[in-house]
Amino acid sequence: MSAQILDGKLLAAQLKKQLKDVIEELHKDNKKVSVVSITVGNDPSTFSYLKSQKKAAEDLGIRYKEINFPITSRQDEVLNLINQIDQDSSIHGVIINKPLPAHIEDSILINRLDASKDIEGLGERNQGRLLLGKSSILPCTAAAALELLRFSGVVLKGKQAVVIGRSEIVGKPMALLLLKEDVTVTICHSKTENLPAMIQRADIVVAAIGKPLFVKGDWLKPGAIVIDVGINQQDGKIVGDVDFESCKEKASFITPVPGGVGPVTSVMLMKNVVEAFKNIL
Ligand code: NAD
Repeated sequence: MSAQILDGKLLAAQLKKQLKDVIEELHKDNKKVSVVSITVGNDPSTFSYLKSQKKAAEDLGIRYKEINFPITSRQDEVLNLINQIDQDSSIHGVIINKPLPAHIEDSILINRLDASKDIEGLGERNQGRLLLGKSSILPCTAAAALELLRFSGVVLKGKQAVVIGRSEIVGKPMALLLLKEDVTVTICHSKTENLPAMIQRADIVVAAIGKPLFVKGDWLKPGAIVIDVGINQQDGKIVGDVDFESCKEKASFITPVPGGVGPVTSVMLMKNVVEAFKNIL
């Protein structure tokens, strides 16, 4: 058996089309949806992410502005800008790009930002509301992984999922989103014993580990759906956390890397700007 590929580029294009219609409708009122993307320093690892943010915004007619602080900037200088943005009703969403230099703490920046403009959904208010099952701006990578699962067309309710990784950015919100879909969720992490045996039970495997080609095909239950969130550099190439070649022989559906979760994440970010514009909190 060879798995069907869950094509993130195709899904991203479909979602963009739907979103474009919504944005055009919103723009009829002469208000323009607008987003600001903040970087501190010029870490090359953010270049491609910035490029894809900009492209996604421009394709959708969202106003996009990048603000770059020199690497030597103090935390309070960045906080000053966030205070100004919080007061500025013409800006609907903010992206705080990582990595930040060591003297700047991302959680302080994110939590200073008004939760209604936290379009990455990573602040305490949005994460707390997600935990409580209230309307919130969703962490976009986990939301993208869920969209890809839905794209498979498989009924999620009642399935067993293993989420590998317990980060605030991906693993934990992913588990909560799956729980909301009536999936039975197990979260595994670096201290989990006998990971292959845990994965063997899972109908759905979401890998968010940060270790190249880590999940092997012979760990999978036959027919499992595999969502690979990982982005790793290996021998000059981008690879996921899943050993795609062996896993595709065992899975029913699998996301490729690149071209899986990544492209959908950028669209979810823009979907969140629209949610922020509508002020859903
Ligand atoms: P992280 O380093 O914060 O968390 C990694 C998690 O993996 C931890 O919870 C850890 O417990 C777990 N882990 C580490 N070693 C393990 C092991 N041997 N067995 C089981 N679990 C183990 O990383 P993150 O920010 O959650 O990102 C995870 C991956 O997803 C990275 O490759 C990152 O680049 C990628 N990512 C992709 C997107 C996207 O849009 N596609 C967005 C964010 C992160």
